[in-house]
Formats: sequence, C-alpha cells, structure tokens
Amino acid sequence: MQREIFEEEHDQFRASVGRWIDKELVPHSAEWETDGIVPREVFTSAGKNGFLGMDVPEAYGGGGVSDFRYNLVFGEELHARGLGGVGLGMLLHNDICMPYFLTYCTEEQKQRWLPGLVSGELIAALGMTEPGIGSDLASMTTTAIRDGDNYVVNGAKTFITNGINADLVITAVKTDPSQRHKGMSLLILERGMEGFERGRNLEKIGQHAQDTAELFFTDVQVPASNLLGPNEGDGFIQLVHNLPQERLSIAVASVAAVRAALGWTLDYVKERTAFGQPIGSFQNSRFVLAEIATELEIAQSFVDRCVIGLNDHTLTAEEAAMAKWWCSEFQKRAVDRCLQLHGGYGYMLEYPIARAYVDARFTTIYGGTTEIMKEIIGRSLGL
Ligand SMILES: Cc1cc2nc3c(=O)[nH]c(=O)nc-3n(C[C@H](O)[C@H](O)[C@H](O)COP(=O)(O)OP(=O)(O)OC[C@H]3O[C@@H](n4cnc5c(N)ncnc54)[C@H](O)[C@@H]3O)c2cc1C
Repeated sequence: MQREIFEEEHDQFRASVGRWIDKELVPHSAEWETDGIVPREVFTSAGKNGFLGMDVPEAYGGGGVSDFRYNLVFGEELHARGLGGVGLGMLLHNDICMPYFLTYCTEEQKQRWLPGLVSGELIAALGMTEPGIGSDLASMTTTAIRDGDNYVVNGAKTFITNGINADLVITAVKTDPSQRHKGMSLLILERGMEGFERGRNLEKIGQHAQDTAELFFTDVQVPASNLLGPNEGDGFIQLVHNLPQERLSIAVASVAAVRAALGWTLDYVKERTAFGQPIGSFQNSRFVLAEIATELEIAQSFVDRCVIGLNDHTLTAEEAAMAKWWCSEFQKRAVDRCLQLHGGYGYMLEYPIARAYVDARFTTIYGGTTEIMKEIIGRSLGL
C-alpha cells in the first residue's frame, strides 16, 4: 500500500541515509558483529551527516525539526539492510535518550551536553534495569543520597544498551529509598566519574554488534547539577512521559525488520527448487508469505498512524503499548516463519534471515515486556 505519511523532504532524507549506510556501515558490519561493538566513529560519522539529534534546536547544532518521521526513516533504512544490531545504539541515542535531554535539561545542561550528543562525540545510554529488577522498576535499589552539592550514588545496572560506549548515562536512582515511585529521580552519570565502572560486554544470543553491559556505581560523587528536571522524585513521571516514543521506536523497527525478512524470503523461494519446482510455488509457501504480507500492511498502517499521533502529541501510552507488543511479537513470529522457508540455509549466518532471527528475540522483552504492555492496555480498559 502507498504510505501517506511522507513528504518530499523525508524521501530525500531516506536517500541520503541509505547512501551513508551503504558506504559507512554495510562494508564493516560483519567485523562489528564479531567485535561485539560498533566503533565510536560510527556515531561521529552519523552526527557529521545530520543523522543524530534531528529534533535538537539549531542553536545546539541539531536539525531543528521536531518530526519523528525522520527517526522512523533512519530506523527503517538500517533494518532494510539487516543492520538492526549495528544500528540499535544510534536508535537508542536518538529516539530514546535524546527526548530526556530535550525535555528536562536546564539551559546550562543543554549547552553542556546537546552539541556533543548531536555531533556523536557524546554517546547516550538509559540505565533503568538492575540485576534484581526490570519490569518492577519502582523496586529498584540504586541510591543517590544528597551530600552537600553532590549526590553519592551506589548500586548497579544491567543489560544497558551502549553500556560500553556511553559517555552520558541517564540513570534511574532512588533519591528517597523509603519511597517507591515517588522516590525515583533521573541523574546523568558521566564517563570518568570516580567509582563508575563498566562490567562485561554481555554475551547475547543476538544483537552481536551492540554493546550491552553491566554498570557499577560505588560512592560515585555526582554533582547535583546533573539531576534531570527541577525536583527530586520526578523520575518515574519523566520515564512514563517518554515511554510512548521509546515503544513506538521499537514497533517501527519491528515492522521494518519484517519487511526486510519478507523481501529476502521472496527472493529465496523464487530461486530455490524442490521436487522440480520453486519452493515458492507450493501452496504452503504462498499462504505463509501471503499471511505475512497481509499482517505487514496492517501493522504498517497502525504504526504510521501512531507516528502521526506522536508528532501531534496525541499518542497515548496504551496505543504505544499496543504498537510495541503486537509488532514485536509479529516480528518474532514472521521472522521465524521466513527462516523455515529457507530450510537449512536459514540456520546459516551467511544468510541475513539467520541473523534477523536471533536479533529479533529481544524485541518482545526490552522497552517493557509483552506482558507488561498488556497490563498497561488492560488497566486502560478498567480491568
Ligand atoms: C538486548 C537488551 C537490551 C536492553 N537494553 C536496556 C537498556 O538500554 N536499558 C535498560 O534499562 N534496560 C535494558 N534492557 C532490559 C529490559 O528492559 C528488561 O530485560 C525488561 O524490562 C524485563 O525486565 P527483566 O529482565 O528484569 O524481567 P522480569 O521483570 O524479571 O520479568 C521476567 C518475566 O516475568 C514477566 N512479568 C514480570 N512482571 C509481570 C507482571 N506484572 N505480569 C505478568 N508478567 C510479568 C515478564 O513479562 C517476563 O516474561 C535490555 C534488555 C535486553 C535483552
């Protein structure tokens, strides 16, 4: 179906993103998958080309256009080339972390951090999950206790995307450990602060080019001027405010990943033969691919509508949760079915469908699990 949400500028942006990915990322992606990380120069190159902080005001070096369609195009073009793992850190930096800096920073903080975030010299991460808690965020135990002009931070985070590369970690802390939601605040921890250590770059089943790490904080002295927002205790509200964009970003990526998988599979089933005929001509293959193509159109329409809602500030938390759980579960299901149609070659990493399969598995977990998304939607139904 013709997608109705784009204007000429988005098409031009798409062409420019595509050229950059083909030149700067595609030739190196296999090496980065082996390294378990993308080099920092990828971020500075993206920054130089205007692909970071498109929504940051020009005064801080950004694109000055608040329009999530640019973020969507960037994510789609990465996934079209099977580079979900290579691109995840940049998508997190742009779609998930940047809104915290834009919405909650004071003027002084904006001047300190935004230019570097736009140029890619500063890489961002979001630290919410801890070894002992993920979904139940209000039970987190990392503390930040005020001591004069500083907070003293103790605790640990895990599964943090960009965990090794990050210079600025938006860290969820308890400034009042006696409280649950109301005791939470967001504090920026910076590379080099004494007592802020990185753990292992965790070994994962997929997303191999992405550095996902543990972070440890032991008596880290963080200036009180690194608090996000004017008040202690606002952290949970700040997180809830930004989650719809985070979840929509994941849904966008999931739909784009299915589109790529469908394309590779269509090519494969037209070429591969069995019993004297292309495997695509078996009724089962046609039905599987017809079902995926149908669901893809339906998912795309919903996600595109949500993107317009996000731009208009009308997207609700429940709608974003619907997009996130359904599209990520669709990705998991559809990529699995596409792999099956590749037979044994589908299990070989030289075929992009194999990497897409292992890369897909985390999408129903991070950014809030499918079960938590259904809790959010269920509550909105008065249940
Ligand atoms: C590759 C990757 C990257 C990640 N990146 C980041 C990051 O950058 N920053 C960050 O902070 N975190 C990150 N995470 C962590 C991710 O957000 C958490 O794993 C996720 O929120 C789930 O938390 P958990 O792992 O503690 O699972 P748990 O909360 O322990 O849940 C385990 C199971 O119980 C279910 N469950 C829990 N509560 C309920 C309930 N009330 N009702 C029904 N079922 C329930 C869950 O749905 C799940 O199936 C990442 C994770 C992965 C895998």
